[in-house]
Amino acid sequence: MWSVPKVLFFTVVAATNMTIVHMLDFCQKADSECQSQDISPSALQPRAQILNSRWNASVLSLIQNLNHFRVSRAFPIDEVQGNAVRTVKNCIFSESSPTPLKGRLRLAAVSKDVLEGLLDLDMSVTQSEEFLLYTSGGRCLPGSQPLAHRYGGHQFGYWAGQLGDGRAHLLGQYTNRKGDTWELQLKGSGKTPYSRSGDGRAVVRSSLREFLGSEAMHFLGVPTSRAASLVVSDEPVLRDQFYDGNVKTERGAVVLRIAKSWFRIGSLEILSRSGELDLLRKLLNFVIEEHFPSIQSKDSDKYLVFYSRVVNDTAHLMAQWASVGFAHGVCNTDNFSLLSITIDYGPFGFMESYNPGFVPNTSDDEGRYSVGAQASVGLFNLDKLLDALRPLLTAGQQLAAETVLKGYVDIYKTRIHHLFKAKLGLLGDDVEDDYIIALLLQVMEDTQADFTMTFRQLSEASAQQLHKHNFTQAWALEDLSSHGHFADWLSTYLQRLSRQSHDKDVERRGRMKGVNPRYVLRNWMAESAIREAEMNNFSEVVLLHRILSSPFITQTSAEEAGYAARPPRWAQGLKVSCSS
Ligand code: AMP
Ligand code: MG
Repeated sequence: MWSVPKVLFFTVVAATNMTIVHMLDFCQKADSECQSQDISPSALQPRAQILNSRWNASVLSLIQNLNHFRVSRAFPIDEVQGNAVRTVKNCIFSESSPTPLKGRLRLAAVSKDVLEGLLDLDMSVTQSEEFLLYTSGGRCLPGSQPLAHRYGGHQFGYWAGQLGDGRAHLLGQYTNRKGDTWELQLKGSGKTPYSRSGDGRAVVRSSLREFLGSEAMHFLGVPTSRAASLVVSDEPVLRDQFYDGNVKTERGAVVLRIAKSWFRIGSLEILSRSGELDLLRKLLNFVIEEHFPSIQSKDSDKYLVFYSRVVNDTAHLMAQWASVGFAHGVCNTDNFSLLSITIDYGPFGFMESYNPGFVPNTSDDEGRYSVGAQASVGLFNLDKLLDALRPLLTAGQQLAAETVLKGYVDIYKTRIHHLFKAKLGLLGDDVEDDYIIALLLQVMEDTQADFTMTFRQLSEASAQQLHKHNFTQAWALEDLSSHGHFADWLSTYLQRLSRQSHDKDVERRGRMKGVNPRYVLRNWMAESAIREAEMNNFSEVVLLHRILSSPFITQTSAEEAGYAARPPRWAQGLKVSCSS
């Protein structure tokens, strides 16, 4: 058999320290006009009453039903008021009011699935002026208590100290009629005590990418935060997009995004590092109680059990990212969720030509967060989580947690093996499976074949077409076929499929089409929608959102737009950076 020297997605090495290349861009000031007041009676409703059995008639009723009370009751709130930048101690949240965006507001996109399915809102509310105001931070319910979360993080391998929500406001939590609780957050809604020298804003291009990226990931089946709406303003925001001195005026935008929880590894790290152990314990107990109901509060090993759950779930998430070719771009501990969901979409990218070294973020000079390094980075981040938990663990529990962490690699390998077997339609176990997966990846790497379309076209082609090497309609397979080992690989693969005695070819194709998307958010697709959105034409965002909501189904409008075709030539030079 042909030997395969390395296989991207099975490689997990000890993560190393690298230099900090992450930078923020900073600019203009904005006034705070949206003051918070005392907690309203509606916010004080007991939990059971917050369960909704009806639709919210307006966005106002949704906002009224937000439970602002939970976190502020559970934790001490920063005693200092206002958005002045400061070092914050002994709390987990600071009160902070959104700063309304200036100029005309335009609703660029909404997610019906989120608004109707998760927030119980009728789509007609999106026609109202109040929808624009509430979803952009232009209006807060009197008595509401928007919060900015204090967290820290390891950025590019080094402890960066206090970070926090520098441009995000937690509006409250909402329990929908299904009984699921979601935390609503605005991103780009103005300065907070954690803005450092940033302006608290997010620009159109990055907000559009977050809106589409997070929704696309959800419909690909990857755990993620969701996006409800995207509001674009006329407020000028200055950005040096590629940190080359070329400062341009862009426009501010706000995404209303939701997650079951926005707590991150960095949420615990900052408390542990500053010795605020009571608060660390309190936050951990809260997270466990709210989000890990199977862990008993009286269990003396509960922190250890919690840790093993995060290790397990993060390994799964890293494997899922790899299985769709997703590179997050900035895998710092402040961007890694304690619930192991994908959060904080920045310079992410979906890999096109298969390349383990694919780095979506041009600011990541050393490729620390390349798509092939993410599994190792997950390990690094989990090690930092363990460091944060150590003060609450006995010596024995620390040893046990280290053993748990050692198990990460196996969990990851097992998961990715299953995911790639499913991508290839392989049933049962066969000694050749590892080889089949590894050789295909190697051939893809050598030929720079498209990751998404290789698997999709293998799903769409009949076994007969594959036997005949009939790739006329399959551009990715055509690319692969130029490789000297492809014919061998294909015959090994087809023999393996033929050993699946009870499997029909049509069933294999159906299974594979259900896990191999035909459409992912390629950079050029996002870029094209951004260019239109910059001119206040949002039809492409809406089209992309619709198409990416059914990524496994062939759609006429997507085919017409060329979303499953070879990427256009102009796409080759596209870059994304941390600047957002
Ligand atoms: P990110 O890379 O977007 O995860 O951001 C890292 C940290 O910088 C977080 O604390 C952000 O809230 C903060 N940050 C990023 N951009 C800005 C900005 N324009 N204004 C204020 N804070 C920001
Ligand atoms: Mg972040």
